[in-house]
Amino acid sequence: MEIVYGPVSSWRLGRSLGVDLICQKGKVCPFDCTYCSLGRTTELTTERRVFVPTERVARDLGEAMKKVEADVVTFSGTGEPTLSLNLGEAIKVAKEISGLPVAVLTNSSLMNREDVRRDLAQADVVVGELDAPNEEIFKRINRPYEEIRLADMIEGMKKFRAGFNGKFSLEVMCAPENKDFSKEIAAIARTIRPDEVQINAPLRSSPVRPLTPEELNAIKKDFKGMNARSVYETKKVEVKKVVGPRKLRQLKRPKARKAGR
Ligand code: SF4
Repeated sequence: MEIVYGPVSSWRLGRSLGVDLICQKGKVCPFDCTYCSLGRTTELTTERRVFVPTERVARDLGEAMKKVEADVVTFSGTGEPTLSLNLGEAIKVAKEISGLPVAVLTNSSLMNREDVRRDLAQADVVVGELDAPNEEIFKRINRPYEEIRLADMIEGMKKFRAGFNGKFSLEVMCAPENKDFSKEIAAIARTIRPDEVQINAPLRSSPVRPLTPEELNAIKKDFKGMNARSVYETKKVEVKKVVGPRKLRQLKRPKARKAGR
């Protein structure tokens, strides 16, 4: 299985060379979001374990760096990267080998755990997730593992923000289930105090209809006073050569500028 893929043209990170620390046949995640482009979660779990040994990350990333040009190494892929017990170690190795900043895209589900916050703190950029204003909408849109509470996630993000020296962005994925709750979500986002809010829509092959630029613009207004930007406002960056073509197909990256992550 391919661990390293891309770079892809990411609207928020530039030329993003992906590392999939989960790398299973199906999707392993504490969530089963309605909008997920990867299909239904095959293993809904909160158990941290090593999926891909750090030595394999080092080897494959080293090989990829000889072939491609990138702006950032991003831990994302076929599930939730914070489920990887070796995330912190893999981030350190990725920095050494690539000489690039490292970003992690997380759904924030495990951010109330100290070991997870410690691992994430090794990164230069962390993008967390907040899609719901309350537990009811949270269950409806993110369909989490039963023990996960939105309130705990929010506390975890606040703690992480307070102790993190890098850039902490907050993604809000806007979908039919939460589009009428943007004021409430913005109020929570203010308490988390991210460096940036990314107003996103599921533009990759997703089972839900992506909101229009007009709908996203209206939502963005509720984040007034925060550093907010929408997926529709950003420009595509050019990517010349890629590695991991099978992984890229698995992740169903769109051909045009519709890159979600
Ligand atoms: S958190 Fe990400 S990978 Fe997990 S189900 Fe949601 S969209 Fe899919």
